[in-house]
Amino acid sequence: MSCPVGVDVALAARLLREGKLVSFATETVYGLGANALDVNAVARVFAVKNRPHFDPLIVHIADRSWLPRLVASWPEAAERLAARFWPGPLTLVLPKTELVPDLVTSGLPSVAVRMPAHPLALELLRLADVPVAAPSANLFGQLSPTCAEHVAERLGDQIDYLLDGGPCSVGVESTVLLLESDRAVLLRPGGVPLEEIESVISPVALPSRETTSDQAAALSPGMLPQHYAPRTPLVIVEDLSRVTAPARCGLLILQPHPAASRFAAVEVLSANGDLTAAAANFFAALRRLDAAHVEQIVTMPFPNHGLGRALNDRLTRAAH
Ligand code: AMP
Ligand code: MG
Repeated sequence: MSCPVGVDVALAARLLREGKLVSFATETVYGLGANALDVNAVARVFAVKNRPHFDPLIVHIADRSWLPRLVASWPEAAERLAARFWPGPLTLVLPKTELVPDLVTSGLPSVAVRMPAHPLALELLRLADVPVAAPSANLFGQLSPTCAEHVAERLGDQIDYLLDGGPCSVGVESTVLLLESDRAVLLRPGGVPLEEIESVISPVALPSRETTSDQAAALSPGMLPQHYAPRTPLVIVEDLSRVTAPARCGLLILQPHPAASRFAAVEVLSANGDLTAAAANFFAALRRLDAAHVEQIVTMPFPNHGLGRALNDRLTRAAH
């Protein structure tokens, strides 16, 4: 049996307060939300997603009044970033207070907080009047949902309500930034491009460049090399003309390409190569290719700037 789907924010908020699971639209992807202060509800989020307990959850708030209860320090960099990007797709990782259950942070001394920009999400969080722990509303490791139908397909029978806010406007997960006393570290590229963050605070350290993958994993345990993956094998190539059997492959491509007609199924993410539009279409396009009965999904790297950095990160983790 599938859960109720709709726009009844008051009902969704009441369910969250009662310890139930509500999937809701944000501007990034659909979240699977639970009251972050209710460990039983949070435990159900991990169980429903089949998410390993070492992978911490992001806590969502609608206004800053919750911050002093959730984070133990609020450095000037956090203030400047929040002033510029909240509400929006930027998650800040800061030292946590005792109030935040260890289950939410996977035992880490820090908590990830974000204020989403989707009006329905904000209304839900305001009415629920609790911080909401919410990972993406998909099974662990699979493609993130960017519309209500994606959630209903896979998780409809395991959640208590699905708050339908239409397709997600950003389409990739939030940027996750760790703020330590002396440095900022980009844990996950996402909806706010690195260049924009660096226009507010600089420099930002990139773990991929400066640390080993073990150290990067210690900083952000959820950043697994394989994630966000379709069931169909996905490969990233530099040159489409070298794909040996395009007639059996699907193609995911930023903009129209002369070699595309040789492929069995094609998803062009943006007619003019716009990376913001491409991000908004990315997960839905991958899902369609995954359902197209092709042997392999072929794709090319995105330009590594703006939202292209987040898209390349997702592609690399989707490749297998
Ligand atoms: P998701 O729920 O899929 O959007 O993933 C959230 C990601 O944020 C996790 O996989 C972690 O990599 C990162 N994250 C959340 N909380 C923390 C934290 N306290 N410290 C470091 N990274 C975190
Ligand atoms: Mg996720």
